[in-house]
Amino acid sequence: MSKVIEDCIFCKIIAKEVPAEIVYEDDLMIAFKDINPQAKVHILLVPKVHIPNNLYLEGSHKPLIGHIILKANEIAKKLGIAETGFRLIVNNGTDAGQEVPHIHWHLLGGEPLGRLIC
Ligand code: 5GP
Ligand code: ZN
Repeated sequence: MSKVIEDCIFCKIIAKEVPAEIVYEDDLMIAFKDINPQAKVHILLVPKVHIPNNLYLEGSHKPLIGHIILKANEIAKKLGIAETGFRLIVNNGTDAGQEVPHIHWHLLGGEPLGRLIC
Protein backbone atom coordinates (compact mmCIF):
# COMPACT_ATOMS: atom_id res chain seq x y z
CA MET A 1 0.00 0.00 0.00
CA SER A 2 1.34 3.44 -0.97
CA LYS A 3 1.80 6.17 1.61
CA VAL A 4 -1.37 8.26 1.79
CA ILE A 5 -0.69 11.93 1.01
CA GLU A 6 -2.91 13.96 3.30
CA ASP A 7 -5.59 15.92 1.46
CA CYS A 8 -5.05 14.03 -1.80
CA ILE A 9 -8.48 12.76 -2.83
CA PHE A 10 -7.02 10.08 -5.10
CA CYS A 11 -4.73 8.77 -2.33
CA LYS A 12 -7.86 8.55 -0.18
CA ILE A 13 -9.71 6.61 -2.88
CA ILE A 14 -6.70 4.29 -3.24
CA ALA A 15 -6.69 3.78 0.56
CA LYS A 16 -10.48 3.13 0.42
CA GLU A 17 -11.05 6.06 2.76
CA VAL A 18 -13.28 7.63 0.10
CA PRO A 19 -15.64 5.51 -2.03
CA ALA A 20 -15.39 5.28 -5.81
CA GLU A 21 -16.85 3.08 -8.53
CA ILE A 22 -13.77 1.00 -9.19
CA VAL A 23 -13.61 -0.76 -12.56
CA TYR A 24 -10.08 -2.18 -12.23
CA GLU A 25 -7.38 -2.46 -9.57
CA ASP A 26 -4.02 -4.16 -9.14
CA ASP A 27 -0.84 -3.58 -7.13
CA LEU A 28 0.27 -0.63 -9.26
CA MET A 29 -2.89 1.22 -10.22
CA ILE A 30 -6.57 1.77 -9.76
CA ALA A 31 -9.23 2.78 -12.31
CA PHE A 32 -12.55 4.29 -11.29
CA LYS A 33 -15.44 6.26 -12.79
CA ASP A 34 -15.03 10.04 -12.83
CA ILE A 35 -17.49 11.68 -10.44
CA ASN A 36 -18.29 14.35 -13.07
CA PRO A 37 -18.17 12.45 -16.38
CA GLN A 38 -17.35 14.41 -19.54
CA ALA A 39 -18.39 11.54 -21.83
CA LYS A 40 -20.63 8.47 -21.68
CA VAL A 41 -17.62 6.55 -20.42
CA HIS A 42 -15.13 8.53 -18.32
CA ILE A 43 -12.64 6.52 -16.27
CA LEU A 44 -9.62 7.77 -14.34
CA LEU A 45 -6.49 5.61 -14.42
CA VAL A 46 -4.40 6.38 -11.35
CA PRO A 47 -1.07 4.98 -10.17
CA LYS A 48 -1.08 3.98 -6.50
CA VAL A 49 2.11 5.93 -5.90
CA HIS A 50 1.54 9.67 -5.45
CA ILE A 51 3.15 11.47 -8.40
CA PRO A 52 1.88 15.07 -8.80
CA ASN A 53 1.98 15.22 -12.61
CA ASN A 54 4.01 14.38 -15.73
CA LEU A 55 6.88 16.69 -14.68
CA TYR A 56 7.55 14.46 -11.69
CA LEU A 57 7.93 11.26 -13.67
CA GLU A 58 11.36 9.63 -13.52
CA GLY A 59 13.09 6.86 -15.43
CA SER A 60 12.12 4.38 -12.72
CA HIS A 61 8.46 5.05 -13.50
CA LYS A 62 8.74 3.77 -17.10
CA PRO A 63 7.34 0.28 -16.33
CA LEU A 64 4.49 1.84 -14.34
CA ILE A 65 3.56 4.20 -17.19
CA GLY A 66 3.68 1.36 -19.71
CA HIS A 67 1.52 -0.75 -17.44
CA ILE A 68 -1.14 1.95 -17.13
CA ILE A 69 -1.21 2.74 -20.87
CA LEU A 70 -1.59 -0.94 -21.76
CA LYS A 71 -4.26 -1.45 -19.08
CA ALA A 72 -6.19 1.41 -20.71
CA ASN A 73 -6.68 -0.86 -23.74
CA GLU A 74 -7.92 -3.74 -21.58
CA ILE A 75 -10.30 -1.48 -19.67
CA ALA A 76 -11.58 0.10 -22.90
CA LYS A 77 -12.27 -3.39 -24.27
CA LYS A 78 -13.96 -4.48 -21.05
CA LEU A 79 -16.21 -1.42 -21.12
CA GLY A 80 -17.02 -1.89 -24.81
CA ILE A 81 -15.50 1.36 -26.11
CA ALA A 82 -12.35 0.03 -27.77
CA GLU A 83 -13.81 -0.60 -31.21
CA THR A 84 -15.55 2.75 -31.54
CA GLY A 85 -12.54 4.70 -30.25
CA PHE A 86 -11.45 6.43 -27.11
CA ARG A 87 -9.21 9.22 -25.84
CA LEU A 88 -6.49 9.18 -23.18
CA ILE A 89 -5.63 12.55 -21.65
CA VAL A 90 -3.29 13.80 -18.94
CA ASN A 91 -3.74 17.36 -17.68
CA ASN A 92 -0.56 18.86 -16.26
CA GLY A 93 -0.64 22.01 -14.16
CA THR A 94 -2.76 25.12 -14.04
CA ASP A 95 -3.08 26.03 -17.73
CA ALA A 96 -4.19 22.48 -18.52
CA GLY A 97 -6.83 22.70 -15.80
CA GLN A 98 -5.38 19.98 -13.59
CA GLU A 99 -7.57 19.87 -10.48
CA VAL A 100 -6.20 16.84 -8.67
CA PRO A 101 -2.41 16.89 -8.19
CA HIS A 102 -2.00 13.12 -8.38
CA ILE A 103 -1.20 12.08 -11.95
CA HIS A 104 -4.04 10.35 -13.76
CA TRP A 105 -5.04 9.42 -17.28
CA HIS A 106 -8.58 10.27 -18.34
CA LEU A 107 -10.07 7.47 -20.47
CA LEU A 108 -12.99 8.90 -22.42
CA GLY A 109 -15.27 7.25 -24.94
CA GLY A 110 -18.61 5.69 -25.68
CA GLU A 111 -19.68 8.52 -28.00
CA PRO A 112 -18.08 10.89 -30.55
CA LEU A 113 -15.76 13.17 -28.59
CA GLY A 114 -15.07 15.89 -31.13
CA ARG A 115 -11.62 17.06 -32.12
CA LEU A 116 -9.33 18.63 -29.53
CA ILE A 117 -6.75 19.94 -31.99
CA CYS A 118 -7.92 21.37 -35.31
P1 5GP B 1 -7.99 16.88 -13.66
O1 5GP B 1 -8.74 18.15 -13.90
O2 5GP B 1 -7.11 16.97 -12.43
O3 5GP B 1 -7.26 16.37 -14.87
O4 5GP B 1 -9.08 15.77 -13.39
C1 5GP B 1 -9.57 15.47 -12.11
C2 5GP B 1 -10.81 14.65 -12.30
O5 5GP B 1 -11.11 14.02 -11.07
C3 5GP B 1 -12.03 15.48 -12.69
O6 5GP B 1 -12.55 14.99 -13.92
C4 5GP B 1 -13.00 15.28 -11.52
O7 5GP B 1 -14.35 15.16 -11.93
C5 5GP B 1 -12.49 13.98 -10.89
N1 5GP B 1 -12.72 13.89 -9.46
C6 5GP B 1 -12.44 14.85 -8.53
N2 5GP B 1 -12.75 14.41 -7.29
C7 5GP B 1 -13.23 13.15 -7.46
C8 5GP B 1 -13.73 12.17 -6.53
O8 5GP B 1 -13.80 12.38 -5.32
N3 5GP B 1 -14.14 10.99 -7.05
C9 5GP B 1 -14.09 10.73 -8.39
N4 5GP B 1 -14.52 9.53 -8.79
N5 5GP B 1 -13.62 11.62 -9.28
C10 5GP B 1 -13.20 12.82 -8.82
ZN1 ZN C 1 -2.22 11.23 -4.07
